[in-house]
Amino acid sequence: MNIQNGIIQDSNIGGVPFTPMIVTPKGKRNVRTLKQLLTSDHDPEYIVVHNTGNAASTANDAAHSRWLQNVENADVQYVSVHIFVDKDSCVQTCPLNEVTYNAGDGGSGKGNARSLSIEICENDDYPAAESNGIKLVVAFMKQFNIPIDRVQPHRYFASNKKLCPHRILKSQATWESDWKKFQQRIMAVYNNDSSGQNPAPDPGSDTYTVQKGDSLWRIAQNVLGDGSRYTEIASLNGISSPYIIHVGQVLQLPQSSSSSGSGSIKVGDRVKITGTYYATGQRIPTWVKETTHTVYQLKSDRALMKEIMSWVYLSDIYKV
Ligand SMILES: [Zn+2]
Repeated sequence: MNIQNGIIQDSNIGGVPFTPMIVTPKGKRNVRTLKQLLTSDHDPEYIVVHNTGNAASTANDAAHSRWLQNVENADVQYVSVHIFVDKDSCVQTCPLNEVTYNAGDGGSGKGNARSLSIEICENDDYPAAESNGIKLVVAFMKQFNIPIDRVQPHRYFASNKKLCPHRILKSQATWESDWKKFQQRIMAVYNNDSSGQNPAPDPGSDTYTVQKGDSLWRIAQNVLGDGSRYTEIASLNGISSPYIIHVGQVLQLPQSSSSSGSGSIKVGDRVKITGTYYATGQRIPTWVKETTHTVYQLKSDRALMKEIMSWVYLSDIYKV
């Protein structure tokens, strides 16, 4: 992605046609804050997802940009967003390195001051708009190395517990599980998208189709020769206790740990990163080094970190 002074220069984001419609700062700076994100490099560390809450048929992405310009001119409220996306396009209204008043968590909250904010329009074909929204999220995750657990709904940050995005979060009781399902949809697109900078897990790696009577332990015993390695299969496929699997389900299998030359590092291990650069050459942000990661896949001299879907060298990680 080509970004100059926080403004995207490309004709599309993740394949969604893009137009910059940057709000001109006026008056009290209540839309255009002119404040840099509080992250060390002024790049976003989180992505905040919203619905516009406006079902009027005219309320598309461009209309919301014009609305924000009117708000800025009239100083009527404090509200801003980086990106609006609808069923066929997206627009940018504020520079990506600038604080937006989107998340209701104050001037230095993570949602406002460390995030990239995206509003999904609901004026027309909502499933199409939402699917475009997912493409944008994936493109920005890859651009800024943002892991899926830092892609969160407005509700996650909002001090007033606003149930937004309301088309994705069904209720205050279920919003966390509703969001988990949405995160899984994002990761499905993330892993199928080969255009990004970070390689997705190797689709050519071995798989196993679950048979009648199988358990994870039995599969590990039969296929890997060690029943206790069922935890590696579980981790690789995102299966948690009580480890329920279904006949016909296709499981990814760990590569034999002896071929990695990694010594003791195995799939499923919890590790920390000490290196300066990813195996793909990009600099590793400090917060990534402060976080514990799960080894998702091993390949020759490198390991794929599950939470950030990024490859690092085995010599740059240690078990915790
Ligand atoms: Zn919202």
